[in-house]
Amino acid sequence: MRRMDMNQRMYELGSKRSVIREIFEFGKKRAAEVGAENVYDFSLGNPSVNPPEIVKDTLSELLSTVEGAALHGYSSAQGDLSVRKAIADYIAKTQNVKTDPDYIYMTCGAAASLTITLSALCNAGDEVIAFTPFFTEYRVFTETAGAKLVAVKSDEKTFQIDFDELEKAITPKTAAVLVNSPNNPSGVVYTEETIKKLSAFLEKVSKERGKPIYIITDEPYRELVYGGVKVPYLTAYYKNTFVCYSYSKSLSLPGERIGYIFVNPEMENARQLYLAVCGAGRALGYVCAPVLFQKLIARCVGAVSDVSVYEKNRDLLAGALRKDGFFCVQPDGAFYLFVKSPEADANKFCERAKKYDLLLVPGDDFGSPGFVRIAYCVSPDMIRRSLPSFEKLAAEYELIK
Ligand code: PLP
Repeated sequence: MRRMDMNQRMYELGSKRSVIREIFEFGKKRAAEVGAENVYDFSLGNPSVNPPEIVKDTLSELLSTVEGAALHGYSSAQGDLSVRKAIADYIAKTQNVKTDPDYIYMTCGAAASLTITLSALCNAGDEVIAFTPFFTEYRVFTETAGAKLVAVKSDEKTFQIDFDELEKAITPKTAAVLVNSPNNPSGVVYTEETIKKLSAFLEKVSKERGKPIYIITDEPYRELVYGGVKVPYLTAYYKNTFVCYSYSKSLSLPGERIGYIFVNPEMENARQLYLAVCGAGRALGYVCAPVLFQKLIARCVGAVSDVSVYEKNRDLLAGALRKDGFFCVQPDGAFYLFVKSPEADANKFCERAKKYDLLLVPGDDFGSPGFVRIAYCVSPDMIRRSLPSFEKLAAEYELIK
């Protein structure tokens, strides 16, 4: 095929598998050789706990009591009004912020929320800031919107925002800052102090240049927090905020593709920006999110899977790894540990880990070389069985004191 017969960028994106997928595929092959119970696959962020009972009950009820177009037909492009109303009421009640159903846009999960919002906001050549480490797809989503992703290094001891680095990265082309707390892959939750500082800083810069910098907050892990940690709600701190939410992790429904965008009705030009979101949804073909799951969300709003097992997993694994001599920032949320590689090249470390059938993901694609991500959304039993392998790996590096 000649080069001009297709879009070269799309071809490249389609033909190169993500590192995570690559490792996952290796795990499946290895499991066929040595038995699944002997492979410790920490590569994927697939929730390991079941959706709450109310999800199953509501699904059965919907399927047996609602019929035809009312359940399987198109909704409005931006989502069913009664569903948007249930979500708006829930956010207002729990976060004490102003909401409005006419500023909510239902989506196929956070990935769609992000691509729509970025396309609604960005013009060709704009820049979008993301703090390291960040979800690998941010670069793809930003570039698809015609903008450039600018990676800003976080403080590697805490993974909170390094404001000196942020200041250096701002240019007249900065359109938005992406925030993801609880974070994939570090598990870190931004403190209220960080959020207040970020809001004040962006307020000041926006005023100086007479043009707002928007916050896009990506929140699929909002409810996955441990030890009573609070996740500040961004619209309460910074008015020019777009909230990109997904039920993939909070309800363990990643395959059902359901989430939303909430445009803060109090931002400047909120109506026009919401209409730009609707326009981007239309242009990208993300209209009418799955209706069965829209209806389910209206009835299950506020429900969360039992995430206590993630907290137990975190304590078990982080405790054991620290005892082995590894370093990781304490994660307060999500289901990932971001561990410092004992050798500079985390890819080499991951290769060595494979010898013990430990499947870890190098931090390079997350913008943080020298670290590895361990997804602990697995069974506690697998974690327990994997600990001797981690110990042997630590021994290779002479980490154990
Ligand atoms: N953002 C982050 C930080 C994620 O970790 C993920 C998925 O793992 C997504 C977005 C995409 O989520 P969804 O499955 O809802 O599209």
